[in-house]
Amino acid sequence: MSTAAANSAGGSINFTLARERTIMAYKNGEATRSEVCDAQTELMRNARECGKRVDARCPICHEEELVEVLYVFGPRLPAAGRCIVTEGDLERIRRRKGEFTAYDVEVCTRCKWNHLLRTNPVV
Ligand SMILES: [Zn+2]
Repeated sequence: MSTAAANSAGGSINFTLARERTIMAYKNGEATRSEVCDAQTELMRNARECGKRVDARCPICHEEELVEVLYVFGPRLPAAGRCIVTEGDLERIRRRKGEFTAYDVEVCTRCKWNHLLRTNPVV
């Protein structure tokens, strides 16, 4: 997490370097596919139901386009976070009291690759 913190700007934290390291570890044979493609059932379901398709192929299986799932964590939200589908969902959270953080997670719905991309305070 120290590298991620070094990339912090305006309360946002970017995990791109950690992601690259994980992909390299897989390519170098230091991490197995089951170690890097370990999305839990809940995350896979959210990826299918509220994931936003992005124009990039999975870095592990190269067979599927990636989706990004946005979770918000904060007071009175489920411990596993609230999955955000529409801008209206986010707007409702903005109107609440308290500090909320959005987590953007990249998921491959084919091989279960997943990685946190960035976190942002919800403002
Ligand atoms: Zn994949």
